[in-house]
Amino acid sequence: MKITKLTTYRLPPRWMFLKIETDEGIVGWGEPVIEGKAKSVEAAVHELGEYIIGQDPARINDIWQTLYRGSFYRGGPILMSAISGIDQALWDIKGKALGVPVYQLLGGLVRDKIKAYSWVGGDRPADVIDGIKKLMAGGFDTFKLNGCEEMGIIDNARKVDAAIAVVAEIRAKFGNTIEFGLDFHGRVDAPMAKILIKELEPYRPLFIEEPVLAEQAEYYPRLAAQTHLPIAAGERMYSRFDFKRVLADGGLAIVQPDLSHAGGITECFKIAAMAEAYDVALAPHCPLGPIALASCLHLDFVARNAVLQEQSMGIHYNQGAELLDYVVNKEDFNMVDGYFSPLMKPGLGVEINEEKVIACSKNPPDWHNPVWRYSDGAVAEW
Ligand SMILES: [Mg+2]
Repeated sequence: MKITKLTTYRLPPRWMFLKIETDEGIVGWGEPVIEGKAKSVEAAVHELGEYIIGQDPARINDIWQTLYRGSFYRGGPILMSAISGIDQALWDIKGKALGVPVYQLLGGLVRDKIKAYSWVGGDRPADVIDGIKKLMAGGFDTFKLNGCEEMGIIDNARKVDAAIAVVAEIRAKFGNTIEFGLDFHGRVDAPMAKILIKELEPYRPLFIEEPVLAEQAEYYPRLAAQTHLPIAAGERMYSRFDFKRVLADGGLAIVQPDLSHAGGITECFKIAAMAEAYDVALAPHCPLGPIALASCLHLDFVARNAVLQEQSMGIHYNQGAELLDYVVNKEDFNMVDGYFSPLMKPGLGVEINEEKVIACSKNPPDWHNPVWRYSDGAVAEW
């Protein structure tokens, strides 16, 4: 079998799908995108595509190494997201060619179901109580919300109180019948992270995500030393080589590689195994589309340390399209009591509505995250 063609489709809400065709008629789908830089990743996919046209799609390991090591400069969000989508599509082709789901090719099931969580409350946490009530009716009992709005390097007690008030209200309303993680979204710098984590401890969040940016990863072990709350990070780390440093330095209880950013299934399978060796849990990042989610699920079902799966149903970013809008076999993504089941169809197990993809890619949105500023005019982290 030979790879013959790569076609990309940028789509609402902020996604990109990749279709890889072969000379035997088997087609694979991937989701190479970095949120807000879809066009850059698209260019990278086609540049990397020149290396793989005419190649045997079954040689995923060799193709991965060629795409990663075959050029002198490598790594980072753009190139690794491009490799990720290509890698996903190759696993889809391999599974379809052999007639088995991808989790079988990775050694088979290690669990029967995986817990999913839902986002609640948007960019600036609001209406969280109502949001949780509605989602509980749909079977969720685990949630994630942004931990705060803009936070200065040194900020005032009112900002801290506002962040704590949201969490206190959740615990007062729902007690311990639900769990929730708090995503600091890299908005918080080390001095305020120390204060916020201390004040949040009594409310027992499930984890604190990106308490500081990955660029300040040296603070993960320092923050972990001051708290018993689990610290999570990883959506802005792009390979084993990024993860090895945080694993070796300690501090993280949960790693969150993104299957569309950190080298795809091939690389995240290895990252999961590295994390297991350090007694660190896996919770793949996935505020993206169905192919990215399917890739995450295949990993969750073979990695013993997988604990939770993010998914984008109803997420505040999904303006103009929802998670399953381009999927034919929507029923395979049905959750029971907040758990996903294994995707049983060959390959990634996602049947793409190609007509709809083509139609919706005619006029794709060019999504970018907002640029936030402090009241004094300086740029804030979003
Ligand atoms: Mg996050």
